[in-house]
Amino acid sequence: MFNWLFARHHRGTFIVRIEDTDVERKVEGAVEDVLESLRWLGLEWDEGPEVGGRYGPYFQSQRLHYYRPVVEQLTSDGYAYPCYCSHERLEAMKAEQVRRGQPPGYDRRCRNLSQEERSRFEAEGIRPVIRFKTPLTGRTEFRDLIRGKVVFDNSTLDDFVLLKSDGYPTYHLANVVDDHLMEVSHVLRADEWLASTPRHILLYQAVGYESPQFAHLPMILGPDRSKLSKRHGATSLLEFRDEGYLPEAMLNFLALLGWSLDDRTEVLSREELVEHFSLERISKTAAIFNIDKLRWMNGLYLRKLDIDDLTERALPFFERDLPSSVRRPIDRSYVRAVVALEQERAKTLAELPQLGEFFFMEELDYPVDLLLQKLNREKASQALTTVSQKLGALGPFDHGSLEATLRPLASDLSLTTKELFSLLRVAVTGRTAAPPLFQTMEVLGKEACLRRIEAAIRLLRG
Ligand code: ZN
Repeated sequence: MFNWLFARHHRGTFIVRIEDTDVERKVEGAVEDVLESLRWLGLEWDEGPEVGGRYGPYFQSQRLHYYRPVVEQLTSDGYAYPCYCSHERLEAMKAEQVRRGQPPGYDRRCRNLSQEERSRFEAEGIRPVIRFKTPLTGRTEFRDLIRGKVVFDNSTLDDFVLLKSDGYPTYHLANVVDDHLMEVSHVLRADEWLASTPRHILLYQAVGYESPQFAHLPMILGPDRSKLSKRHGATSLLEFRDEGYLPEAMLNFLALLGWSLDDRTEVLSREELVEHFSLERISKTAAIFNIDKLRWMNGLYLRKLDIDDLTERALPFFERDLPSSVRRPIDRSYVRAVVALEQERAKTLAELPQLGEFFFMEELDYPVDLLLQKLNREKASQALTTVSQKLGALGPFDHGSLEATLRPLASDLSLTTKELFSLLRVAVTGRTAAPPLFQTMEVLGKEACLRRIEAAIRLLRG
């Protein structure tokens, strides 16, 4: 998202590249989910899968022919070498390093093999990996656009793998080659890649490419300051979509995780974000993901939606979440009337069918105690019978007429208006908390209200 904002702000080109060279970690459907997430948030891309571009293909697994010649060049120039170590040897080495409390890293056993030794391994049929010959001394430094000058001692970097024995490049190699070939000017990526950047700088120098500019973005942590995980709420964008969050609220919320306009402004539209985005206002410290703030912000955006727009977005949630006993397809104009009443209260689209389920049910199911509150059965049933008669005789069934008819009734029945309205609310909704009573009754309609009141009377009479 920050890459998109940065590209749009500077009228640059936003590129989507799928880095799928880790064959073992390939997950079915993952690419589609990534693209769908971007589409949902409205982060349209100028080059990449589906849209193409001058520098394609945009799947690294389809670009293997670009990486191999670079590795061959590096090897013949003395910047890289084949390593024949077995997986078992490397694992044992790592275990030993951990045991001794040393930082794990390749011990460079194959760095200075003679040509005869290499030939012998080749003759044994061992397929090597190709490693980068990291300088043993000196320092590598670069200017990060967020953190400023960053310096690494080369002695802390090991001889990392460029090309795996299956012929696939590592992240390091593929990125450096592709960023060069695709003429990438800026790389904005997560903080966790900061330690890889000196490796990439060394690689750029060895192949003679100009390095792009780097900006390392703060991590997102949970409210308990631990790594963001399932227990802090949904962890994939599509889960948030399915829980009924609005993409414009999500974009606004995410933008404020690590970036700010000033110390106060919370609500920013997509256009405002593009207009004001700058790397200078990105925080150097981790951002805290607060689901309550997201819910608050989503409710804010939801209340601002025009009722037809809200209806359109809410309909799939009604179709998905209302009990199967409710006839499909769900009536659009009825949903429109229901969401107009629920809009003030709902925080997510998925809450709309939850809050409004009673509008759609043929029969309500609630305990008689809910109906009674502090009234006795006789009095309650008497009251509902009178209400039923009044409603039956009522012409226009709108909330104004309903209120004008029912409000004066309370004293006739020697009830407070609160007692009468609570009784009636439970009778027609099955709940104690619902949207305004008379508007709810208007949406339900005369027939449904009378039927529900009759059912309540039957319940009271046992
Ligand atoms: Zn080796």
